[in-house]
Amino acid sequence: MNQQNDREIFTRLREANPNPTTELEYSTPFELLVAVTLSAQATDKGVNKATAKLFPVANTPAAILALGEDGLKEYIKTIGLFNSKAANIIKACKMLIELHGGEVPRDRKALEALPGVGRKTANVVLNTAFGEPTMAVDTHIFRVANRTKIAPGTTVRQVEDKLLKVVPKEFLRDAHHWLILHGRYVCVARKPRCGACIIYDLCEYKEKTA
Ligand code: SF4
Repeated sequence: MNQQNDREIFTRLREANPNPTTELEYSTPFELLVAVTLSAQATDKGVNKATAKLFPVANTPAAILALGEDGLKEYIKTIGLFNSKAANIIKACKMLIELHGGEVPRDRKALEALPGVGRKTANVVLNTAFGEPTMAVDTHIFRVANRTKIAPGTTVRQVEDKLLKVVPKEFLRDAHHWLILHGRYVCVARKPRCGACIIYDLCEYKEKTA
């Protein structure tokens, strides 16, 4: 994949969706942090359904702690792995209060030190809550980057590092949203919808359909 193709791919993705964002519903960095933590191995839709009830009642570390672990579970019990997610969120809330004045830190190390927060979650929060040009590689981005050959790699970290290198600067902040949405709705896992793909001619996937 050459630079000109990369630029053309993101130009088209931007034209189709000039202001992309996450499909998780949130209104503060803390709400986003909780939503992303809940979204591991769960759908955004399922998370939104739970947080629509949770956030009006508790959307700060102090309010979640006041709910307690069992109280929190009541709101998130429809989401996979809710027991461990509840435990992690409670521990993270304690750390946010003790170490960061109850605020979500704009700092990768501090974010990754929170229970249940890995590199991907930190990348989403840094990007979507704070506007930093990070690349949160999930299963969709991993697939699209490899199929198209924008940033082929065998590990998530390899793909992340390559994307950060090859995506032209002007697209960096929004690139991960475009790639996730493209993977979720067009370049789907089982049978990519190549016939409806706006980057068909630029994609280097050998098994393109249509
Ligand atoms: S052409 Fe097909 S394989 Fe390539 S990005 Fe589009 S949907 Fe995915």
